[in-house]
Amino acid sequence: MHRIHAMDLSGQIGKLFKPKERPHSPTAELSVKTGKGCAKKDFQWLTTNVPCQAACPAGTDIPGYLTAIAGGEYEKAYRINLIDNVFPAVLGRVCARPCESACRHGYEGLGDPVAICFSKRSADDFNASGPVLLEPWFPNSGKKVAVIGAGVAGLTAARQLKLMGHDVTVYEKHDSPGGMLNQGIPEFRLPREIIAREIAQITGLGIEIQCGVSIGDDLKLTDLIPDVDAVVMAAGTLKPNLLNLPNHELPGIMHGLDFLLQVNEGKTPHLGKNVIVIGGGFTAMDCARTARRLGAETAQWDLKVLYRRSKDVMRVTPGELEELDIEGIPLECHATPVAYLEKNGRLTGMKFRRTGTHEEFDVPADTVLLATGQFPDHSWECEPETFQTLENFQKVFAAGDYASGASSLIDAIGHAKKVAEKVDQFLMGEKRMEKSVLVEPAETTGRSVEMNRIPRNRMPMLPVAERSLHGEVETGYRRKDAVSEANRCYRCHFKFEIDQDKCIKCDWCLKAKPRPECILMLKSIEHDNEGRAVSWEATDYVREMNMIWINQDECIRCGACLKACPVDAISLQKVSLFSGTNIDNTGENPENSE
Ligand SMILES: Cc1cc2nc3c(=O)[nH]c(=O)nc-3n(C[C@H](O)[C@H](O)[C@H](O)COP(=O)(O)OP(=O)(O)OC[C@H]3O[C@@H](n4cnc5c(N)ncnc54)[C@H](O)[C@@H]3O)c2cc1C
Ligand code: SF4
Ligand code: SF4
Ligand code: SF4
Repeated sequence: MHRIHAMDLSGQIGKLFKPKERPHSPTAELSVKTGKGCAKKDFQWLTTNVPCQAACPAGTDIPGYLTAIAGGEYEKAYRINLIDNVFPAVLGRVCARPCESACRHGYEGLGDPVAICFSKRSADDFNASGPVLLEPWFPNSGKKVAVIGAGVAGLTAARQLKLMGHDVTVYEKHDSPGGMLNQGIPEFRLPREIIAREIAQITGLGIEIQCGVSIGDDLKLTDLIPDVDAVVMAAGTLKPNLLNLPNHELPGIMHGLDFLLQVNEGKTPHLGKNVIVIGGGFTAMDCARTARRLGAETAQWDLKVLYRRSKDVMRVTPGELEELDIEGIPLECHATPVAYLEKNGRLTGMKFRRTGTHEEFDVPADTVLLATGQFPDHSWECEPETFQTLENFQKVFAAGDYASGASSLIDAIGHAKKVAEKVDQFLMGEKRMEKSVLVEPAETTGRSVEMNRIPRNRMPMLPVAERSLHGEVETGYRRKDAVSEANRCYRCHFKFEIDQDKCIKCDWCLKAKPRPECILMLKSIEHDNEGRAVSWEATDYVREMNMIWINQDECIRCGACLKACPVDAISLQKVSLFSGTNIDNTGENPENSE
């Protein structure tokens, strides 16, 4: 494939084609010019062009809310998030951020990804509206649903089903709702009032949460099923994976979930002087940083994290490894635990083997915190006959980590949203929620080229000396940082396209373009049966060129071509995902539109 270089073609190209000789416009990559499209290629356009939204398991309208923040509309930005991901203020702090790894701003040569997660938090920090209670999508159905577990998955399923018109009761065995938000994640990463506030926006819709009710113990699943029309099991992964090594019952060996639960309930477990944390995920980081805070006053304190694989495969929140380092906690990778060491029935340390060299070494320990994973505990599903009748089998659904295994908050939320739609379809006998692609003409993206040069805004942090078990470490953007960060977003949901019938091939857009390959001179282009451009041959030579074409994947939506074109051959459209009820088919999406 030939590549384009800057060249002066002024005046030459327009003469090359007479109107009737011009190549046909390629089939548009969207099925509609304006309104709602439901073709496969419409969804594919969104997936390839708005990579952040495609990477978000809950399908959050990221460019939509960043645009709202850029315009100072925090309530709108919060609402967009609330509709899509249920827990904006929580996720704005502790989301695993798959969207940021996918962000176009992070592509090679384009700088750092937009701080999508911190921006979500800003939407809440500067939203002055107070609690937001969403309007129901459907009238009351008279159907009853029981949800087991009040973690993010159970609460998401409950909210969606309530908005769909069903009566929902959530059963939670812990004494407060939130699941791992309360039981696992420490307060210094996630203040408790944030959790309570966002759960109140769910219970405020009329959902009852019965805490202190353990299904299987206090109420049998077999007794619950006949009383309701559907059950959603969202019981998380509470069964710890304990290392099956000799001496594993020695005092001083504790699973990280138990340790964090104790601290989160206000207890102070005794750790001794030497503490080892084993693992490389969320739990390991939280155990280490919590232990660090508990031992801060202890003289001769020694704390270390050991992990059997490499740093780059650790499943942690971006930035957490840096915080581990800043808080002075050493991390040793490629170290596999092989034996607990003991003397006179007392834990004295652990033996490790180094991956690759197989060299063995001992690390002294008074406490070993195991952050070695957890699984769903199915024991409470009780008698095997529970699922032996077809009716019971069809009525019961599983959501979140209980269904998929230990994952992340946003994975659990995204999964629970899908499960809620399945439950609704089962209850109502039809698919009532729809997804389509909304295409609207637009005048401008609202950005300037200068905004592309704004560096990523750093999250302000508490100084290490001031950090404790309680005070939030990340203190939040100032209002002006929030706007500046939101302005960094290219707004990839805008589509620039050259109308081949209008284009006079003057080359002005080629001269204005900021990226070498965002606009190409093409010899030819091929489309698949769906009308998607699948391959093309670019050329550097005017004599070989048949059309000038915008490569959406390389386009950073700067608008330079639109301004440069002398004959208005370039059009601009806004393309967004519509997700909602199929009742109002007017083409309007009051909740998601900007
Ligand atoms: C320490 C720790 C830190 C983490 N940090 C992050 C992070 O920073 N970012 C991130 O994205 N993810 C993080 N995760 C992962 C994330 O918390 C989970 O993926 C998420 O909580 C799963 O949600 P869930 O609703 O499926 O399960 P859970 O949050 O585990 O909720 C399940 C709920 O079901 C209840 N329950 C269980 N059995 C019964 C029963 N029989 N009857 C009634 N109730 C029952 C439990 O008490 C619990 O409240 C972390 C996990 C841990 C353990
Ligand atoms: S630049 Fe904006 S719209 Fe594009 S991927 Fe990044 S956050 Fe999403
Ligand atoms: S808007 Fe036009 S000039 Fe700007 S990056 Fe996209 S194709 Fe290139
Ligand atoms: S799109 Fe406009 S600026 Fe670009 S070559 Fe065609 S007429 Fe010229």
